[in-house]
Parts: sequence; structure tokens; C-alpha cells
Amino acid sequence: MMFEKIEQNNPVIPLDFSVVIPIFNEKENISELYERLSSTLRSLGSYEIIFIDDGSIDGSFQLMKNFAQKDKSVKVIRFSRNYGQHPAIKAGFRHAIGSYIILMDADLQDDPEDIKILDAKIKEGYDIVFSQIKNIERSIFKKINSIVFHFVFSRVSGSRNPADIGTFRIFTRKVLISLNKYEERGIIYGPLMASIGYKSAYVDVRKNKRRKGVTHYSFYKLMRMALDSLSTYTMIPLQLMIYSGFLIATVSFSAAIYLIFKKLAYGIAVPGYASSLISSFFLGGVILLSLGVVGDYIFRIYQEVLRRPLFLIDEKINMDDSHGGEDEKPQSGSS
Ligand code: UDP
Ligand code: MG
Repeated sequence: MMFEKIEQNNPVIPLDFSVVIPIFNEKENISELYERLSSTLRSLGSYEIIFIDDGSIDGSFQLMKNFAQKDKSVKVIRFSRNYGQHPAIKAGFRHAIGSYIILMDADLQDDPEDIKILDAKIKEGYDIVFSQIKNIERSIFKKINSIVFHFVFSRVSGSRNPADIGTFRIFTRKVLISLNKYEERGIIYGPLMASIGYKSAYVDVRKNKRRKGVTHYSFYKLMRMALDSLSTYTMIPLQLMIYSGFLIATVSFSAAIYLIFKKLAYGIAVPGYASSLISSFFLGGVILLSLGVVGDYIFRIYQEVLRRPLFLIDEKINMDDSHGGEDEKPQSGSS
């Protein structure tokens, strides 16, 4: 794999921490984030802050660039356009060189100072330390989404993960190398990291309201993600189709037998078209829905088969290109 290769061939000076932060239009948060992060990290060891500019159009990139010019521990990857939070995280992970990796959002919902809490916990001998959010009031959409997510988490991991796990987390380089082996397109790090095992711990941290700007996740986007994780990590949609098909077939077969029996024994036919119309519409609906589910899987397979790059990089700042370069595509043959 790419990382093993890097680690063998590159005389990169290892760092204690890599902080990976995807950024999409966070102009108003970056300066405070940078200040608070650097003063926290300075007290802990050597570090790099990797900002991934996911196609911001509000001047966020210029700000990051300014910080990177003054401070070599700030590294920037600029995407050619907006590709989404998770591709941005992936790019950051592929370039991180720290012994411990910290993932967080840019909106200051998590206090950068709490890295100290995560750091103290992971040094007790864990591989991953997740932040657990206790206090925040969330919208009903977010709650539904987190319930679906949590359901998937527990299903895929076969263990009881606590609900309300936040993005904010720290993990070891060993976990990073494992994460970088996942090359699927629709990567979502929440359920993925809940499913990979390793010795995990959870710490309670305060989650603030978003400092500036608005969330990038609409109701539609959240639902899409929840459904994506359902169909990626479980067979639930397909099982639903199979069970409902089985149920409908059994019920209608029994009804048919009953009606034939009634006709033969008493000469009574069921009057009216309503029942037959309703049942054929019902069946039509179920068939369409099932086709949709199958179509969804075929679409995903098609996307994977295309093997398109998950993102394109426009520019990199303070980064040694030999740390991976643009080739976020699978390094086939090199592993
Ligand atoms: N983000 C991104 N690309 C996107 C959407 C979001 O890089 O297309 C970043 C965003 O800048 C933030 C993080 O992902 O740092 C989480 O986004 P947000 O705070 O809007 O999500 P929420 O906290 O509402 O779930
Ligand atoms: Mg947020």
C-alpha cells in the first residue's frame, strides 16, 4: 500500500500529531480555529494541521494560504471543486504523517482544547478514542439521522457502540493505515470506523453550537447519507424486499384458495373491482420500490466499476509531493 511505501522510502520527519480538517466555506471560523489549535498542539508535541479546502468559494482558501505561508505546520490541499466532506477527509488521511491522527470539523462545534482530553485517553493504551456528545440540542432531522446511523453502527460492529458519537476523534497511525486501505467511492467514516474493530474508548466532550455560518447538511443530504450507510453496511433494503415479496405472495395465494373454495362450494363470486384494483396497485408499488432498490445497487456497482478518482487536487501547500501526490486512486500492483 501507498503508506507502507512512503514509510519505507521517505526520509519524512515523523510528527506526533496530524490534525485533519475538511473545509467548505468556513471563512469566519478558520482564524479562531487556527489560533486555538496551534496553541493547544504546541503544548502537546510536534504537529501538522492539514486543511482540505473542499472547493470553498468564500475566500477560505486565501485565509488558509496566509496561515500556511507564515507557519510551515499548516498544510493545505485544495480540491478542484466541492467533492464532499468524506472525500476531503480521505485526502487528508492519505497525506497525514503523524503518529496520532485527529479528525475534527472546522466550525468550532468541538473545542480544539479538548484534544488534550482525547490525547490523555489514547495514551492509556487505546487505538481509537471517539468523542461522545452529551449536551447539544439537535434538530429532529439530526436526531432521526443519528438513530439510523447508530442502528447501522451496532449492526456492523456487532458490539454496542454508544449513540451520539461525534466526528471529533483521535486514533493511532496503525488505524490510519487500515483506513487508507478502504477504497470504495461512497466512503462514510462514521460507520466505517465503527466497523473496523481495534481497542476503542469514548470520552464525553462538550459540543457547542456552530460558531459561524450554517450547516452544510440539509435534511435531504442527511437522509441520503443514512440510507447510503444502510445499503452499504447492511442487507436490510434487500431483505425487506424479500420478506415483503414472501408475505404478499403467501397472503394472496391463501386468499385465492379461499375464494376458489367459496365459489365451488357456495357459488359465490366476490363482487366489485375495487379489491382487485387496489391489490394490483399495491403490488405495482411494491414491485417499483423493489426495482428502485435493485437499481440503486446497480448504480453503485457502476460507479465503483468506473474507478473514477474520488477527488481532483488543484493545489497543495507545504506538502512534500512524494507523500502521495494526486494519486488517490488505488495503487494497484504496489501492495
Ligand atoms: N464540509 C466539507 N465539504 C462539504 C460539506 C462540509 O468539507 O461538502 C466540512 C465543513 O466545512 C465542516 C465539516 O465538513 O468542517 C462538517 O460540516 P458541517 O459542520 O456543516 O456539518 P454538521 O456539523 O452540521 O453535521
Ligand atoms: Mg458542524
